[in-house]
Amino acid sequence: MDIVPIPAFGDNYLWLLASQGRAAIVDPGDPAPVQRELTRRGLTLETILVTHHHGDHVGGVATLAGATGARVYGPRGEDIPARQVALGEPAAIEVLGVALHVLDVPGHTRGHIAYHAPALHALFCGDTLFAGGCGRLFEGTPAQMVASLAKLAALPGATRVYCAHEYTLSNLRFALAAEPGNAALRARQQHCAAQRARGEPTVPSTIAEELATNPFMRCDEPALRAAAEARRPGAGRTRVDTFAVLREWKNGF
Ligand code: ZN
Ligand code: FE
Repeated sequence: MDIVPIPAFGDNYLWLLASQGRAAIVDPGDPAPVQRELTRRGLTLETILVTHHHGDHVGGVATLAGATGARVYGPRGEDIPARQVALGEPAAIEVLGVALHVLDVPGHTRGHIAYHAPALHALFCGDTLFAGGCGRLFEGTPAQMVASLAKLAALPGATRVYCAHEYTLSNLRFALAAEPGNAALRARQQHCAAQRARGEPTVPSTIAEELATNPFMRCDEPALRAAAEARRPGAGRTRVDTFAVLREWKNGF
């Protein structure tokens, strides 16, 4: 199975899965670059997987489904254009011969889902977990996002994180402000800056990398508890309050 990013809108990645002439696409916000890539590679689009309802993730769904007859899967708790199969945990589906497990990961939106393919060591998590960061809380609560991130943290460390945006450098700049003493974070920032300078994507990362460097996955770390406490006295006492303070801080960073 090939898993390749199709860049769109400046900082989105639409993830294309391809195997023996068959293809699936995750979160096709724009149909045009997907159609170009299908043609270029001679692929037949069979499956469209949607993680949540935002326009940069669903904008191309109806066009692609209409043009190809691909089956559209999306979260049961959200309004998804042309959706044929409504999914929620603990659903499992087969895509291009591979099992995908559906995880409910509310927080960025109320009904956000992620797709985990254990056989591919791959996670398609939309705007929930980013390389070095996490999605904004547009519809959900800090407690929901903390629970969603904990669910992803429990996946095998080697799982590759195919998130939907190239936000890594700005995320890591914030992460360093929140946790300046983290040597692994500093090394990751240098590595990712070099990747971007070469025009390469910084994703996928892995769950293990996120556990070591992503502040939103590290809200039990004493240094991050102390950083939250310094910004809002009392916030360092719990994981959820620490997360909430970090998330608000990042919003204005
Ligand atoms: Zn979104
Ligand atoms: Fe997005």
